[in-house]
Amino acid sequence: MSQRIYILPETLTNKIAAGEVVERPASVIKELIENSLDAGATDISVAINAGGRRLIRVTDNGHGMSREDALLSLERHATSKIRVDADLDKIITLGFRGEALPSIASVSRFTLATREIGSQEGTEIIMEGGRIRDVRACGMPSGTVISVEQIFYNLPARLKFMKSSETETGHVGDVIARMSVSRPDVSFSCTSDERELLRLQRSDLQRRLAQVIGKDSSQHLYPVNGEGISGFISSPALVRSGSQAIYTYINGRFIRDKVVQHAVMQAYRGVIDRGRYPVVALFIEIPPGEVDVNVHPTKHEVRFRRQSIVHDAIQTAIEEVLRRSPWLVAQPVSVMSNSSGGATGQAYRERITAASQASLVLPSHPPCRTALAEHSTKESVEPIIITTYNSTVCESSPSFQPEQPQSESAGYFSELNIIGQFHSEYLLCQSDSEMVIIDQHAASERVAYQLLKKQFLTGGIESQRLLFPETVELSFSEVAVSVKFSLDLAGIGFELEPFGGTTIMVSAVPRLVALKDPILLIRNILADLACFSTSSAFNDALENLLSRIACHSVIRGAHPLEQRQIKELLYSMDQTDFAASCPHGRPVSHVLSLAELQKIFKRT
Ligand code: ADP
Ligand code: MG
Repeated sequence: MSQRIYILPETLTNKIAAGEVVERPASVIKELIENSLDAGATDISVAINAGGRRLIRVTDNGHGMSREDALLSLERHATSKIRVDADLDKIITLGFRGEALPSIASVSRFTLATREIGSQEGTEIIMEGGRIRDVRACGMPSGTVISVEQIFYNLPARLKFMKSSETETGHVGDVIARMSVSRPDVSFSCTSDERELLRLQRSDLQRRLAQVIGKDSSQHLYPVNGEGISGFISSPALVRSGSQAIYTYINGRFIRDKVVQHAVMQAYRGVIDRGRYPVVALFIEIPPGEVDVNVHPTKHEVRFRRQSIVHDAIQTAIEEVLRRSPWLVAQPVSVMSNSSGGATGQAYRERITAASQASLVLPSHPPCRTALAEHSTKESVEPIIITTYNSTVCESSPSFQPEQPQSESAGYFSELNIIGQFHSEYLLCQSDSEMVIIDQHAASERVAYQLLKKQFLTGGIESQRLLFPETVELSFSEVAVSVKFSLDLAGIGFELEPFGGTTIMVSAVPRLVALKDPILLIRNILADLACFSTSSAFNDALENLLSRIACHSVIRGAHPLEQRQIKELLYSMDQTDFAASCPHGRPVSHVLSLAELQKIFKRT
């Protein structure tokens, strides 16, 4: 009889557990901050070196541990937070699994120094790869300091997955930022390679949020006060291209939950464009027995006992604020007067939709401006630009700019006879016995794309300096991306530089989009790039990025064009190396022959 099955040694089981809990430096910091908060700390400081790869240190002023507890805390499944089965149903602490410390210690060189309040001296425990190397008394203030050096030094496979220092630092900043929002009463600070990354004084939620998402953005926040639901949500004027600024907390724990996120997005449906996300910090207080946090080791996911009640409560609480808030009051009377009756259900939704569209669409199609145009109004989102634009192009809005007005010999498209425009979206033209239907949006996009590509290949995309550089508030990860790819981004027309904290300064943008809310485009591009890690990624993403800029540079939807503008578009199409589809793969034109028409009308 052979024995095939063995119980694994603890150092190995800890390493396996670490695989789930310790993904990267930011996840170590999340676990350590959770412990500090559970220990009642009011001051937490983090230091990292080389994005956390060389060193992560979290120092707190919590209650600390005795020598015995400190030793126990490094054992697997050792916790002070639950004791018996029934406790699992009433978890009020952030931790409870008793896994984090031994897991982290098993994949690093780890030092725990801690002094219990009231005790004479502290204890220092030094570990290497999960094994205790030394335990000694030490002098220190009360509280706990945990240092994690050379993370994954004994787990080469994991080490390979670590990203650049900037990227890891970005994740660290983001983790601290979102945890800090749940506890404005606690001060947080973080240094990266001895330089201050963030410093958040104790304050209230509104001020903390302003520090985290930026002062400008925070002016668009409105308070939510539902039963068991509180926090702040953004007006439709403040949107992001990803869901990273949706901060949701269940009983103080940051979570990413599909049900909660869906409820938030449902409430904003019709109020913000598709593909856009609001900024939200929402705190849901729910009896611990109603929610299971023991779903995943990282505790980012939860399961609700009564999911639909929670969903609807969140949605209603947000809708309630969206319905009452000032941006709706400012709408044209005709919009509001339609719904003087009960503002519920369909009527209410229609009202929100109509009202928000009235306010949302306007700023994205700026009127033509000439050189040194007056300063934009406070609400305006467009930057001020220096150069004069070809007035024809500016009026007609599609951003292509024919290099020459129609002159000599034309090509296929220029020679078409223009019949007219259908639905302000399609151009109807005739060529001998064929009818040519052109999707004006797809065509403009294709023209813009080709132009960008040509410019890129011949020395760089034409850039437009902003007279007054704009500042943009981003997440830590997005700032990291903007720094990492700054040279590449310059090659496609964007000049961005760090402006302290999570703000970047935009001093130039591709000329094609200078009038088209380039800031929104920058957010989208950084969000795209954040998905990539290596710097070769930029080249992989290039086609997509160019098509994103092209798409952004043209007006979507119905747009009446004058004859002259149609001619310009057709002329530009002839200048373009035309594959008959726009960068999104949609066709640009369709030919209907006379024979086909006759067939439709049964003339043959
Ligand atoms: P858990 O947090 O799930 O209990 P951990 O492995 O993270 O498991 O921590 C084990 C125990 O160590 C905790 O239950 C707590 O008692 C103690 N501990 C960890 N970090 C600290 C800290 N910063 N201050 C005081 N006690 C701590
Ligand atoms: Mg813990």
